[in-house]
Amino acid sequence: MEISPTRPDKSQVLYTGKEIAVTVERMAGEISTVYGNEEITVVAVLHGALIFCADLMRELDMKVQLETVTASSYHGASTTSGELSVRVQCADQLVDRHVLLVEDILDTGRTLSRLSAEVMAIKPKSLRIAALLDKPERRVTDITADFVGFSIPDLFVVGYGLDLDGRYRNLPEIRAIHS
Ligand code: 5GP
Ligand code: MG
Repeated sequence: MEISPTRPDKSQVLYTGKEIAVTVERMAGEISTVYGNEEITVVAVLHGALIFCADLMRELDMKVQLETVTASSYHGASTTSGELSVRVQCADQLVDRHVLLVEDILDTGRTLSRLSAEVMAIKPKSLRIAALLDKPERRVTDITADFVGFSIPDLFVVGYGLDLDGRYRNLPEIRAIHS
């Protein structure tokens, strides 16, 4: 008997697992074109980019090392800027390396702006960003991804690593939730 994972109420499929796979393959092609055979260090921004990063890495043919960082933003009522906690524990592994930050979604840009600054301070050989999803109209900082999977309007999405209160990361598709 096949049991499918629970979907959130009032949601609809935005991208199927197959559509995501095609896009991840296309992104890997773009990444390979830029780096050629240079070794890179992929840095997955946890938890959201876990699934995307795992699939993306397996489409890359050059030598790849993997590190992770944890970023969480708290957009509490008490703050308008959004407190952001970023920890780069793998600093030693990024010095003089071609670093590719892999993120699930680029929204306001605060997370990746902070992370990019932290990583640049470590003095990598180069720094680029791959984001599966991009919501350009939400941006409040001056940051763009070098590799983008899907550019989407201002929707809240879950699945393929993205959560709602910690759930639905295991969905193979990306769904938009109606508010
Ligand atoms: P930013 O700092 O760019 O505003 O936020 C990026 C982070 O916010 C993402 O890494 C992700 O964790 C979260 N986020 C932004 N938009 C969405 C969304 O539509 N769905 C989910 N699940 N998380 C989102
Ligand atoms: Mg994230």
